[in-house]
Order: sequence, then C-alpha cells, then structure tokens
Amino acid sequence: MIQEAKLSSQELMDLEDKYGAHNYHPLPVVLARGEGVYMWDVEGKKYFDFLSAYSAVNQGHCHPRITKALKDQADVLTLTSRAFYNDQLGKYEQFVTSYFGYDKVLPVNTGVEAVEVAIKLCRKWAYQKKGVPESKAKILFASGNFHGRTIAVISASTDPVATRDYGPYLPGYNIIPYNDIDALKEALNDPHVAGFIVEPIQGEAGVNTPDDNYLPQVKEHCNEKNVLFIADEVQTGIARTGRLLATCGNCNCEKSCDNQYESKADILILGKALSGGVFPVSAILADDDIMLCIKPGEHGSTFGGNPLACAVAIEALKVVEDEGLAENAMKLGKIFRDRMQVLVDKSPLLTLVRGKGLLNAVMINDTEDSDTAWRICLALRDNGLLAKPTHGNIIRFAPPLVMTEEELHQCCDIIEKTILAFEV
Ligand code: PLP
Repeated sequence: MIQEAKLSSQELMDLEDKYGAHNYHPLPVVLARGEGVYMWDVEGKKYFDFLSAYSAVNQGHCHPRITKALKDQADVLTLTSRAFYNDQLGKYEQFVTSYFGYDKVLPVNTGVEAVEVAIKLCRKWAYQKKGVPESKAKILFASGNFHGRTIAVISASTDPVATRDYGPYLPGYNIIPYNDIDALKEALNDPHVAGFIVEPIQGEAGVNTPDDNYLPQVKEHCNEKNVLFIADEVQTGIARTGRLLATCGNCNCEKSCDNQYESKADILILGKALSGGVFPVSAILADDDIMLCIKPGEHGSTFGGNPLACAVAIEALKVVEDEGLAENAMKLGKIFRDRMQVLVDKSPLLTLVRGKGLLNAVMINDTEDSDTAWRICLALRDNGLLAKPTHGNIIRFAPPLVMTEEELHQCCDIIEKTILAFEV
C-alpha cells in the first residue's frame, strides 16, 4: 500500500527504484511543485527549471490560464472517443489549422505517436498519389535523429542505446547524414522515396543546429522530386527557437502562415508544448491532398482529439501568442548565448555554445562517454538550477519561455559560478 506519510526525497527515489521499471536515469532531485520558471523539491528547495520537461513546458509550469482550461473542461466532459462527435474537437481543429496554416489536423497524444502517424500518412500518400509500387515506399531520416521510442521510430535511429536488442526493425527507411544537402539530393534520386522526416534542430543529439540554408534547401529539393518534407517540430516547435516554428526560418509574421513560411513542411508534427505540458497532446498537420489519403477506420486513437486535450491546447496556443513567447525566446536566446560565449572563452571546461532561441547547449571539453556533464548537472542542481546532459559531454539549456531577462541573468550567474568552480 502507498503510505500517506510525507516521504523524503531519498524515500521517494527508493520507491521509484524498487517499483518502477529502470528505463530512465533521472537526476537525483524529487520535485513536488512548479510555477512559471521555478520548481520546488519535496524538502522545499527552489530551482530554476532549465529543461522545461524536454521543451513541453514552454508556457511555464502550471500556467493559470492553461490549468483553468483543464479544470473547467474536466468538470464537464473529458472523453467521448471518436465513436461520437464532441463539442470541442471541431473548434480546436479550426483553431489549430488556422494557427499553423494547414487544411487539416489529425489529433493524437504523444510525440512518438504523431511521428508514427506521419510515417503511415507518408506511405499512404506514396501509394495513392505518387504511384510508388506496393510495399516499395522508402522514407528518409537523418543520422543522429530522435523521434521517440516505438519500434517503427527506433528503426530509423542511429543510436545503439535506443535500438540494442529490440530487433527486428522496420524496413523501408534510408538514413542520410544530417545537414548534408548533397547526401539528400543523392538519396532523392530513388523514385521510391516518399518522404524525408527531419528535426529542424536535433534536440536530443545535443541541439545539433544545421546551417541556415539547410531547411529551405531540403524543402526545395524534396518538392522538386515530389517527396514529402516532414518536419518533426515536437521539440523545436511552439516558440522554442524564437519563431512559432523552427521551419518559419526568418519569416517575421506573428503566426505561422501559408506562403511566407521559409520552409513550410508538407507534414508538420507537433507535441509537447501544444498543451503547455499539462496533458499529452500531439498533432499531425497537412493539406487536404495529403491528409485525406487516410480514410475512416484507417487510423485512430481512443484519446486522440478528446475534449480535455482540445480545450487545453487552444488555451496553450493562445498563451504563446498573447505573451509573445517566440519574441521572448528570440531575445533571451541571444543574451544567453552571448553570456555563455564569454564563459566558453574563459573556461577550459567548455568548447562551444550553440542553438537558437531558448534551445541551446554547451559542449564540455571531454569525451562523449565521460560523466563530466552529469557531474556538472549535479553541481548546477546544488546551486539551484536543473538541467540534464544529452550526452556525456553536452548539456542542453532550455528554460520555460516565460523567463524574464533578469531571471535569465541570475541563471547565467549560476551556470558561470558552477562551471568556474568545477573540478574535473
Ligand atoms: N520527436 C522529437 C523531436 C522529440 O524530441 C521527441 C521527444 O523528446 C519525440 C519526437 C517523442 O515525443 P514523446 O516523448 O512525447 O513521445
């Protein structure tokens, strides 16, 4: 039986260790409350959140407008399944498609599920519209990708930790190097290629940021060969990189829009911050020519498009716009990288800082399999800031986008103090 008595951090970690599967290796800190850019552990210690639940909490923890939408809808109707219509879904679909500039949306729950749907949709389109012979469709992925953890998705992974002992893998994929247009052009010569699924910035790979002209060129070459350009913006989307979408490039309009988008994807995959991190909500957006390839009964999800998710997602997206989160991410991102660059120049422990908006990372002067980044994250925790390595030598820094300039400077002070005092 679960005990009601207040347990210490250590006791709570012991419970997870004893009763939970060991598929994660969390930083040892047990969180009990979150508000805006802050989180508190069970002993009441306060931290700056510099991970934002892998960019799901862009709008800040427990945003009052989003939690109100959740509570209000929870009191009325939570789930109907798609066996029936509900009074929220159509309104959400209208809202989200006009927000991102697509004809249609297919609502699901988690990021990886949305990637799975994109794979299925791409294959359907290949057979129905492109004329690829049955079972011959190929989808391109980039090396170093991270699109989630299902079998179909890890079959495209080049990370042995994600794939080891999970075979046999799904066929029909070709892996090409990331940020390499010549490799893409070469791969596109295969007439059975139906789509290229790519992250605008590879978050899990360590905020691997491609050349500025990479995405516009990807779009151009894919279009030229009648291949779908499929952007996985589960992590980069919803204002994280200083634009509503990373594929917006330098387009400066407030929202995502039809033609002006610098690298508008044929299929857009969103998750995480689509709900401000309060509820699993993900989406696949595309125009009719593509989306209507899937017919009734050919894909579904009991929870996808549930009224609670719809109400939450509308409010979460309104908050992004009303609070100017893309602009804030753009402005604070520059300040952050400038301050980290000063630190890189000063400390032999760091080799570079990279990223866009408030999706950034620093590289540590050590090997990929070292534990240096982990130990730095422990020291950051002790100094009141929570971040997580993406590799042994890379730390991602991705705070909620509601952070103020003053708070960002306090965080940079903590990072600077920690790095300069760190003994290897
Ligand atoms: N795609 C990208 C780019 C991601 O970063 C992630 C998660 O980190 C996913 C897909 C999978 O999302 P989820 O964990 O919600 O399944």
